[in-house]
Amino acid sequence: MNIIETKDIAYSYPDGTKALEKVNFKAEEGKIIALLGPNGAGKSTLFLHFNGILRPTSGKVLLNGDEIKYDKKALMHVRQNVGIVFQNPDDQLFAPTVVEDVAFGPMNLGLSKEEVEKRVDESLKRVGMEEFKKKAPHHLSGGQKKRVAIAGILAMNPRIMVLDEPTSGLDPKGASQILKILYELNKEGMTIIISTHDVDLVPLYAYSVYIISKGKIIKEGNPQEVFGDV
Ligand code: ADP
Ligand code: ADP
Repeated sequence: MNIIETKDIAYSYPDGTKALEKVNFKAEEGKIIALLGPNGAGKSTLFLHFNGILRPTSGKVLLNGDEIKYDKKALMHVRQNVGIVFQNPDDQLFAPTVVEDVAFGPMNLGLSKEEVEKRVDESLKRVGMEEFKKKAPHHLSGGQKKRVAIAGILAMNPRIMVLDEPTSGLDPKGASQILKILYELNKEGMTIIISTHDVDLVPLYAYSVYIISKGKIIKEGNPQEVFGDV
């Protein structure tokens, strides 16, 4: 079952930049899918289609087999299912403390105070940041910020987590902490879609790999098909 699928989507930014052309992308439920490509290839643009932040200029985006609709109510449903962790955590973290940041999403879902607290605690524990509750996010390291951003998405209980270059700019230890968290979440059934411009370990653990260049998918398959024997 493809939980996310794009059919021939194209996207041009308002200034005329053609960022995507005829992109067909599929994410099977419960798997790790990797999207590889250099800076400017269109990775972020594609990801922003998965939760309806961007609407394709042509083509369709399907969630769970149904075409995404763009009215307010439908988008709320989409965003509850698909959580996006942005490349730059500073785009995502804006509350004065870690705990308030992670609580922001579930509070907006209108959950009870007890349920919000439970989700915040569980999510921070998941990412190993429970000791940092009262800290200001801007005082954290890059890897810690990333983990808090992941906790904020987890607290929304999405079925699919989309991460834009989650290991970029981190040292090897910070990067492996993030990857470990993602593999654990995937083992519990979460679909994980991850982009990278480094040929690191990410693609080797993926179920399927897509390579994007200049807005087009130029290669896809399982890691062995895409990279050969490694
Ligand atoms: P990647 O995530 O792979 O680095 P992006 O999706 O950010 O690539 O960018 C794809 C193309 O779209 C690039 O040519 C980039 O300059 C362009 N682009 C990205 N965001 C905008 C924007 N807001 N307005 C115009 N062009 C953009
Ligand atoms: P990424 O690799 O995550 O896409 P970028 O450095 O390409 O990061 O983009 C950083 C920000 O600048 C994003 O919000 C993107 O939408 C915007 N951006 C990128 N290229 C352009 C562009 N040509 N015109 C306007 N905004 C752009």
